[in-house]
Amino acid sequence: MDELLLLVGENRFAADLVPRIQRHLKVEIITAETSDEIEHVFKEYSPNLLILQAYYPLSEEICQRIKQTRDLAWIYALVIHLQPIEAASDPDKQAIAAAQALNLGADAYLTLPALAPNHDEKAESPAEQRLQAQLMAASRRIKIHQDLVRANNVLSAIALSDALTQINNRRAFDWELPRLIKSAQEKNLELSLMVIDIDLFKQVNDTHGHLIGDQALRIIADRLRSNMRAYDTPYRYGGEEFVVILSHTGPKEAHMIGDRICRLISEHPFVISEALSLDLTVSVGVASLMTHDDSKGLSLIYRADQGLLAAKDSGRYRVCFSDGSAA
Ligand code: GH3
Ligand code: MG
Ligand code: MG
Repeated sequence: MDELLLLVGENRFAADLVPRIQRHLKVEIITAETSDEIEHVFKEYSPNLLILQAYYPLSEEICQRIKQTRDLAWIYALVIHLQPIEAASDPDKQAIAAAQALNLGADAYLTLPALAPNHDEKAESPAEQRLQAQLMAASRRIKIHQDLVRANNVLSAIALSDALTQINNRRAFDWELPRLIKSAQEKNLELSLMVIDIDLFKQVNDTHGHLIGDQALRIIADRLRSNMRAYDTPYRYGGEEFVVILSHTGPKEAHMIGDRICRLISEHPFVISEALSLDLTVSVGVASLMTHDDSKGLSLIYRADQGLLAAKDSGRYRVCFSDGSAA
């Protein structure tokens, strides 16, 4: 497990606890005593375990803040009260301090005797065993969280990719298009959309069967994926239709890219097996973002579809740009 521990407290708190923690847990420890130091740690690193000195005002502040911040609330916060050896412990005072810390969001509160100057490193006192158990509990909780994040990332990747072609799917496109439109509108940048539809694809299925059709779809997706500019992602929109969002691209350049895609598909046969290769063509509809377009991209998609329709109607295997005037 990758743990990064931030210990917040006075110097003597850190001096006492760091070696004790390191005896029980293999972990990188960063110490911070001031708000600026804490700020710096959160900016530069991602601590997943916090150890906070009890009765230290900054501890309360940081505990409250992370537990109220959605993206940080998972961080495990352990408040530790180091009891000076000579001081008598007041159970009521301890109970109130623990309740306060837990009410602020801390995950656990622990009272430990401060180390005697001549303590025996090898002796596992009950207090030391308690510290070890508490650190293990924290470690388990952090691991559960990390496993969940990993599983979530895998599920997101699955949810956004098309099972047949492994390129991004319609859901990914629906999520990405409004985001890119917003960014283009804010920065006053050009953006175009290209809809690509395989010509007479039904005939491929009817003649050679759906499995061969599937193979052809995979080859098209591979060609699109490896021949676009780095920031132009192809998506499978559905069936035998693909879309590409062209950032920083106006009508003229988008038309040229559409022509290039047409050639990319038609100039190289689709080799299915030694005995079978298919000659396929595509029709492409192109539209560019206009000032009155809605932020979801509906009007832009509509115009690109109009372009595709015009390409099909005028004989297929061509690119048609639509500015909406013929609609
Ligand atoms: P057009 O040039 O007008 O686009 O003709 P078309 O035959 O390509 O269009 P049509 O809409 O009539 O047929 C689309 C075909 O695409 C029919 C459908 O079976 C096929 N198709 C859609 N999704 C898949 C798929 O996942 N696998 C296979 N093998 N075929 C698919
Ligand atoms: Mg179609
Ligand atoms: Mg088609």
